[in-house]
Amino acid sequence: MTDKDRIVVVGAGPVGVVAALAAARKGFPVTVLEAAEEVDDSPRASTFHPSTLEMINELGIMDEFLSVGLVARYFDFWDKPRHTLVARLDHEVLREETAFPFVVQTEQHKLARMGLRRLAGLPHVLVRRGCAFTHAEQRADGVVAHATGPEGPERFAGRWLLGCDGGRSAVRKSLGIDFEGYTFPERFLVLTTLFDFAGAMKCSERSYFADPDEWTNLFKAAGDDMAGRWRAVFPTRVGESDEEALGDAASARRLAGIWPEAGLGDLVHRRIYRVHQRVAARFRVGNVFLAGDAAHVNNPIGGLGLNCGIHDVMELVATLEAVRDGAGDDLLDRYERRRRELNIRFVQRQTVDNKRRLEEKDPAVRRQRLAELRAVAEDEERMRAFLRRTSLLDSVRDAHAIA
Ligand SMILES: Cc1cc2nc3c(=O)[nH]c(=O)nc-3n(C[C@H](O)[C@H](O)[C@H](O)COP(=O)(O)OP(=O)(O)OC[C@H]3O[C@@H](n4cnc5c(N)ncnc54)[C@H](O)[C@@H]3O)c2cc1C
Repeated sequence: MTDKDRIVVVGAGPVGVVAALAAARKGFPVTVLEAAEEVDDSPRASTFHPSTLEMINELGIMDEFLSVGLVARYFDFWDKPRHTLVARLDHEVLREETAFPFVVQTEQHKLARMGLRRLAGLPHVLVRRGCAFTHAEQRADGVVAHATGPEGPERFAGRWLLGCDGGRSAVRKSLGIDFEGYTFPERFLVLTTLFDFAGAMKCSERSYFADPDEWTNLFKAAGDDMAGRWRAVFPTRVGESDEEALGDAASARRLAGIWPEAGLGDLVHRRIYRVHQRVAARFRVGNVFLAGDAAHVNNPIGGLGLNCGIHDVMELVATLEAVRDGAGDDLLDRYERRRRELNIRFVQRQTVDNKRRLEEKDPAVRRQRLAELRAVAEDEERMRAFLRRTSLLDSVRDAHAIA
């Protein structure tokens, strides 16, 4: 291990932490710069698909990861106005294709904390919290990250820099890279409740509700206490302010719309998010790379954003390892060719489709879309193909075809 191969990771969210852990396990010295003092534990990603579980397993943290999550074999589509189940999909049909034919539902902050604990024990890893990246200085043989720490300006040198600093990425902005796409006019409201939807309505622990009036995502996460809690995601209405959406009346109405007995009594958390579909115009400039939300953002229907970010950094670290071990520098451009293309082809397309399917207003199109889902659930081969795509197993396979 030599210090000339040091990797500087900006951002210790789940993507940056996975990048740092993957790099450290391959013998790279690593510096992690994180602006915040604490890990952000707001309710965001909680669905980890089979393709991502394979990568988490590669990092050697699978047992611990499973111990803090829920294993969800099934997922459902419901017709919300009718309170009826349309289709139940079973990941078990993927048993020949993956060692993990299920999703794990657990909060993204648990993955970040778990990774940080592992990194803390490694002598060749430095993690600096309260240290905000400002800009990068590219050199022929590497890069210097400039940051502001508690004591003022600081510099961190490395061979490569990975911008994993989220949707508002300072790394992306410092490189002047466009974040192409759009922002939805509606915001997404997340209500977290202890009400037991599976007990009440026999839904699966990941359920999507189609509703021309107000679609809903509903899924169970383990919670820090492992007692289990449900997160329900809804769009805001035209003209509805954030304050109204977060208020008691609107929250009670939305929860009762899923199941009449679900009410304010069990509500433990409310949060609202702006949602975008955007992809960075470049994923690499010289020795600086973008990954995770810094490179792409999408709506959360289907639970793909973080999964794709983890795929980015696993690909990136493997590429850097190949270059460190003798492959030519031109291999570095393959990272952008693969990951940008796959994000657009799978994640952007699928999340936009997922949203359209749930919110479809035309009664005939809606009937047809729900009938398609029913047909998928009734045919094992079609279900397998559907799940291969939604769990990003296809995208991992397709990556290898991009030279
Ligand atoms: C409601 C909701 C539900 C979601 N559900 C899912 C899901 O089920 N599955 C899924 O795959 N995805 C989901 N997502 C998306 C997922 O949350 C994101 O893709 C994920 O957080 C991206 O991780 P990241 O590490 O790239 O970025 P972040 O989590 O945003 O982390 C970036 C880190 O960089 C730090 N940082 C920022 N600026 C600087 C700086 N200048 N210097 C140093 N550090 C800096 C931040 O403090 C932060 O710690 C969901 C999102 C939302 C909003």
